[in-house]
Amino acid sequence: MTRPVLVMKFGGTSVANIERIKRAAEKVKREYVTHDIIVVVSAMSGVTNQLVEYVDQTHANYDAAEYDAVVSTGELVTAGLMALALQNIGCDARSFSGVQVPIITSDFHSKARILDIPADNLRQCLNAQKIAVVAGFQGVSQTDGRITTLGRGGSDTSAVALAAAVNAVRCDIYTDVDGVYTTDPRIAPKAQKIGRIAYEEMLEYASLGAKVLQTRSVELAMAYNMPVQVLSSLEDSIGSEYPGTLVCNEEEIMEQQLVTGIAYAKDEAKISVINVADTPGIASYIFGPLADAGINVDMIVQNVSENGTTTHMTFTVSRRETELALKVLNDNKDNIQFDRIDTDLDVSKVSAIGVGMRSHAGIAAKMFKTLAERKINIQVVTTSEIKVSVLIASEYTELAVRALHQAFGLEAVA
Ligand code: ADP
Ligand code: ASP
Ligand code: MG
Repeated sequence: MTRPVLVMKFGGTSVANIERIKRAAEKVKREYVTHDIIVVVSAMSGVTNQLVEYVDQTHANYDAAEYDAVVSTGELVTAGLMALALQNIGCDARSFSGVQVPIITSDFHSKARILDIPADNLRQCLNAQKIAVVAGFQGVSQTDGRITTLGRGGSDTSAVALAAAVNAVRCDIYTDVDGVYTTDPRIAPKAQKIGRIAYEEMLEYASLGAKVLQTRSVELAMAYNMPVQVLSSLEDSIGSEYPGTLVCNEEEIMEQQLVTGIAYAKDEAKISVINVADTPGIASYIFGPLADAGINVDMIVQNVSENGTTTHMTFTVSRRETELALKVLNDNKDNIQFDRIDTDLDVSKVSAIGVGMRSHAGIAAKMFKTLAERKINIQVVTTSEIKVSVLIASEYTELAVRALHQAFGLEAVA
């Protein structure tokens, strides 16, 4: 009889040293009694950063395919060590690189997308009663067979994609916190663990800065209706006891808050293109080339025209992509026609998220009032059905997060 398949992913801090890898292996062994298991591992904490640094030191303008060849190696080490740790406690296990699975991706090096995961090799491994240990974060390009990586934090995406490929019952993401919190517990000690969170909320939460899950992993979980649980690798419980936060369908959540969480992102940059012609098509002249360069533009405001002929276009990009965005705009100056570009790197985005907003008005107003009381100036606002985001000066990030967390009644009562 076939057993249910469970995917267990361990992040960097959860495999930071041999003792932790052994501890993780013990959890796998407990789940292995009742499930077939695919383990997905990250590189040991700090290793990927070190590898990225090596690349930066070797070539300032590096070839992304070689970047991937270097930074994907951290996960290979952990996969092998995890397989050994499992064998050491009597569990039959073998490691797989992304190529060996294979995890087939696009050829967009350093930010590749998973296209397909043929499951035959994994099935063969599971059918032989073996635990499959897969190196997260990496894949193989469909076009030329070269190694790719899935963007920082990409092991979460590997785990969810593998869970979907083998039709797993659940994907457990073991990390250094015991669940998803109402805001980052590192900056708001009164943050509370959320029992269940809807896919859609988690998607906004992750893309707006809650780094606990990579955004793409939540997109995949939602598309495949895959239950994902975030839980601590440092505590004694295992996933099947449901000690963490379950990311699931909205209908499976009984109690719904108005605002579920407050997210922040400090890695934003604000770009203002000053005095562009206020004519139809101007937005596409600006944002078309940016999109072609793979730059993600987030908040956008077109200022009211001062004289009816020219206007300013303000938007945000990720800080890392500022230089590239400026280059693209300057390269297209003849087409766009602007006076100058202003850049502000000292900005942060703070967001309130909750599916409860769909049926309740007044969230944005409450947010603005709370920030005004703290004398925090709002530079740009964007909203969707389930979130309100504001751009503010970076120095006020922590203050704003804590104030909003309190204003929306998210603090734990002592
Ligand atoms: P891993 O190495 O296991 O992938 P990450 O560092 O990527 O772990 O993600 C876990 C971290 O996410 C936590 O240590 C926490 O500081 C941060 N985090 C940010 N926002 C939240 C949130 N809302 N809930 C829980 N953790 C959060
Ligand atoms: N090791 C990779 C990173 O640090 C992938 C991951 O941890 O998910 O980004
Ligand atoms: Mg992570």
